[in-house]
Amino acid sequence: MSTEIEKLTQILKESNNIVFFGGAGVSTESNIPDFRSSNGLWNEKLQINFTPEQLVSHTFFVRYPEEFFKFYKDKLIYPDAKPNAAHVALAKLEEMGKLKAVVTQNIDGLHQAAGSKKVYELHGSVLRNYCMKCNAFYDEKFILESKGVPTCPKCGGKVKPDVVLYEEGLDNDIISGAVRAIAEADTLIIGGTSLVVYPAAGLIDYFRGKNLVLINKSTTSADNRADLVIHDAIGKVLGEAVNNL
Ligand SMILES: [Zn+2]
Repeated sequence: MSTEIEKLTQILKESNNIVFFGGAGVSTESNIPDFRSSNGLWNEKLQINFTPEQLVSHTFFVRYPEEFFKFYKDKLIYPDAKPNAAHVALAKLEEMGKLKAVVTQNIDGLHQAAGSKKVYELHGSVLRNYCMKCNAFYDEKFILESKGVPTCPKCGGKVKPDVVLYEEGLDNDIISGAVRAIAEADTLIIGGTSLVVYPAAGLIDYFRGKNLVLINKSTTSADNRADLVIHDAIGKVLGEAVNNL
C-alpha cells in the first residue's frame, strides 16, 4: 500500500463529517467522456463548427433545438454507464455515517445509482426532463426514443432536460445546500476536477475544516492549499482507502 493511500485512510478514520466534491474525472472512469473534449458539431447550412460549450448553451437550445438534441443524445446521455469504484466507495462512506454529502458537477446520476443519498447535483441530471409548458416529467428513455426535438404528448410543449446549460444560473437551493455542507465539513475531498470550471474553485473557499484532500490525475490550481494531494485514478484511490477502514 502506498504512503499516500495510508495517509488518506488515516484521514478517513478520524473524520466524521466528510464532503466529497467531484468533477468530470469521476465519470470518465465509468466511460463517460467529458463532453468538452468532443469536437463539437459541424453545421452544413451555416458552414461553421459549433464548439461543445456553444452547443450546450441556452441560446443554442432556443435557436437550434434539433441540433442541440442531436449533440445532447450523442454526447451527454450514457444510459448503459455503471457506477465505478469511486461511486461505490463514497456510497459506503455515507452508509458508515462518515460522509455527509456529495457535491457533483456531473449529470449522470451515477452517485445515486451506487447508493448515495445526499447528492447536490450542481448542474442537474439527464435523468429528469420537464415539459416547458405544463411541467410534466419525462425520463431519460423518453428523450432517447424521441425523434428530433422531444415534444410533450400531453400539451405539445418542448421537453427540456433538467440540466444547467451555459448562460443559465445554478439552482439557489442546491448551491446553498452545497455551501452549507462544505462549510460544516471536517474533511473535504475533491476529485476528478482540475478546478477551473465555475463554481468549483469558489466553493472550496467555504471550507474551514481540518483536511483538504485532492485526488486528480493531473495537477490542479489548489494543490498548494491541500493537506494531501494524490495524482492518481480516483476510483483506485478511494476504493483502496475505503476498503482499509
Ligand atoms: Zn406538456
